[in-house]
Amino acid sequence: MSLPQKPAPRVFSGMQPTGNLHLGNYLGAMVRWVEMQKSHECIYCVVDMHAITVWQDPKELRDQIRSVTAAYIASGLDPKRSILFNQSQVPEHAELAWVCNCVARLGWLNRMTQFKEKAGKDRENASVGLYAYPTLMAADILAYRATHVPVGEDQKQHLELARDIAQKFNNDFAGPIRDAGFDDGTFFPLPEPVIMGPATRVMSLRDGTKKMSKSDASELSRINMTDDADSIAKKIQKAKTDPLPLPGDAAELEKRPEADNLVGIFAALSNKTKAEVVAQFGGQQFSAFKKALVELAVSRIGPVNAEMTRLLADPAEIDRILADGAKRARAIAGPIMDKVKDIVGFLRS
Ligand code: ATP
Ligand code: MG
Repeated sequence: MSLPQKPAPRVFSGMQPTGNLHLGNYLGAMVRWVEMQKSHECIYCVVDMHAITVWQDPKELRDQIRSVTAAYIASGLDPKRSILFNQSQVPEHAELAWVCNCVARLGWLNRMTQFKEKAGKDRENASVGLYAYPTLMAADILAYRATHVPVGEDQKQHLELARDIAQKFNNDFAGPIRDAGFDDGTFFPLPEPVIMGPATRVMSLRDGTKKMSKSDASELSRINMTDDADSIAKKIQKAKTDPLPLPGDAAELEKRPEADNLVGIFAALSNKTKAEVVAQFGGQQFSAFKKALVELAVSRIGPVNAEMTRLLADPAEIDRILADGAKRARAIAGPIMDKVKDIVGFLRS
């Protein structure tokens, strides 16, 4: 199969099955994924190989892969229109990751803040996979010659690294790339980050300076898309705030991270600006605002949650959707990986 000289617009993104999807994943990435599906060819992956960079119980991992897939579909991704699959079913990700490892420089990886945060103080004991996470992420994107990657703010640095890897590959192999039939010596497009969800950085409910994460030890730090109305109410009521009433001016939120986060979540869920939210609630105590936020969050998350429960009642159907997606993904990634092998000088039959 011959590949186009210049790849057409193609979207790739993924989430880790390290836990249930939370409001940060939903507002920072998922809403945009659903939007982009209307106008672009989209490939959405459940990145199970990234998940095992930190310990995962094998049985729970299987359940989480299905649960994240159900969350994708319940949030509005259409498995017929877009390609939905789990990463480990498409071996080209791992194959290309090795090539990316050999293109990326140690100095580049040493600058990655996510590794520093996740490895913490016990860095010597972190897995090699956690360190090499960004090169696998570059391979995920480049295996499809994807052009657009919708993610939350926290993934910006990894995307810049993916662009650096694509650029260095194109430079290092410019001659062989031309020999392989790509006349301008460019094989990989430089993937564009699309960081523009309704809230690109949702913070923890327990600490307004830390992002909301699936892997945070505290359940109270995040609202999951699987939480029922009671849990949502409990988590919002317990969310950290400061003693002052809500400000009437959005500029004052800058010095109050917890208030800023809750107002940001309210704004994102109701398609309003933060200024509109503080105009409505300014001067009021947090108790009244939190009550309104609970109602709003339940009204948005409830239907997604109900649809996830319905889908998860038939795991065989989810497995079928993932297998079908993997087949379609391989049909794209296979010929691209073949060209990469030709370009770097591997023999293949
Ligand atoms: P983990 O703690 O295991 O890294 P995570 O919550 O960071 O999990 P990922 O699977 O790493 O979730 O990321 C999936 C997508 O969600 C990415 O596009 C990421 O940028 C986005 N995302 C993650 N957390 C947030 C957040 N707090 N606010 C906005 N977007 C987020
Ligand atoms: Mg993450």
